[in-house]
Amino acid sequence: MRVGILGAGQLGRMLALGGYPLGARFTFLDGKADAPGAQVGKIVLGGFDEPEKIAELARRVDVLTFDVENVPARAVREAGVEALCRPNLAALETGQDRVAEKQSFEALGIPVAPWRAIETADELLAALDELGLPAVLKRRRLGYDGRGQRFIRRREEALEAFGELGGGDLILEAFVEFEREVSMLGVRAASGETRFYPLSENRHDNGILRLSRAPSAPEELAASAREHVGRLMEHFDYVGVLAVEFFVCGGQLYANETAPRVHNSGHWTIEGAVTSQFENHIRAVLDLPLGDTGCVGVSAMANLIGEMPSTPALLAIPGLHLHDYGKSSRPGRKLGHATLVAPDEEALAKPLASLLALAWPAAQARTSAEIVEC
Ligand code: AMP
Repeated sequence: MRVGILGAGQLGRMLALGGYPLGARFTFLDGKADAPGAQVGKIVLGGFDEPEKIAELARRVDVLTFDVENVPARAVREAGVEALCRPNLAALETGQDRVAEKQSFEALGIPVAPWRAIETADELLAALDELGLPAVLKRRRLGYDGRGQRFIRRREEALEAFGELGGGDLILEAFVEFEREVSMLGVRAASGETRFYPLSENRHDNGILRLSRAPSAPEELAASAREHVGRLMEHFDYVGVLAVEFFVCGGQLYANETAPRVHNSGHWTIEGAVTSQFENHIRAVLDLPLGDTGCVGVSAMANLIGEMPSTPALLAIPGLHLHDYGKSSRPGRKLGHATLVAPDEEALAKPLASLLALAWPAAQARTSAEIVEC
């Protein structure tokens, strides 16, 4: 069972770590010989836009999957390896374009906040009149972790934001005064069998995920999220893990975006679920039976961003599970994560407070305090 992964980031590394016990072996395509995946598999050195490199990876494996969603579908088609890809390229391409993604949500009856595709400054001004302020202007493609988007609070800010984001190929979204952000992760086998993880509740800061907690109540929201994600997976004849982020507003779900891959908000499943999202993705792409997605307690996962806290200090927290991706420090870069699993919220509170005190230095104390409240 040889799996090829386009991208050798931390997601690829965790996919390999999840798949090794099952006997799967991993080769990655990446532009960097020292990417996190290199710690646990072989690397084919090359770009995602190089069909010959994709073909070389494909020759070495039985199935291809993704650690990143921004692999150009054209390069995969040119390599002639489309049939090996799980999930398929249609799902991948939809996730790459915020407009196509919104259209899919709407076609499947999944609620979204009002939005407009924007090509010109005049279209932006007209759309602002229709959708009102504040609003969020985003690049249609290649945005992640809050990059490639600007919040527009006053009409006068619109043209500057338009220019900064490249002046076209944009989407304007109404600002959602959400109560909470949540995500639902589903996994689907080629046979059509689907399973869902409990809902995660997510706290972002500057567009970057800081903290995920699961399971998140109430059950009616989780049931509604399962229905939406199930419909998307069926529509795309999806194989693997699919993540969908939602805003909760007025007790209702509004879909924000999809990720056609394992997702940061599901990292808690490594220790907090019977079968992790990574193992289940590998099971799905290898046509193995899917694993139990139930949780084994209450979990909290904190991202370690920009600078790694001291490893001994983290590991001194009772029950903490550390994942250090082996990346060099850079502001805003996800370097690792830590997960705590406890029998109940009360038992989780103390170690979580210790983790958050280490994970986010004093300068971010205000944000940390806000995050702890969730
Ligand atoms: P995204 O890249 O679309 O996931 O956006 C990153 C984060 O920015 C989200 O998780 C939200 O916290 C915030 N955000 C994005 N779009 C909106 C919106 N339309 N209304 C309110 N907040 C938003």
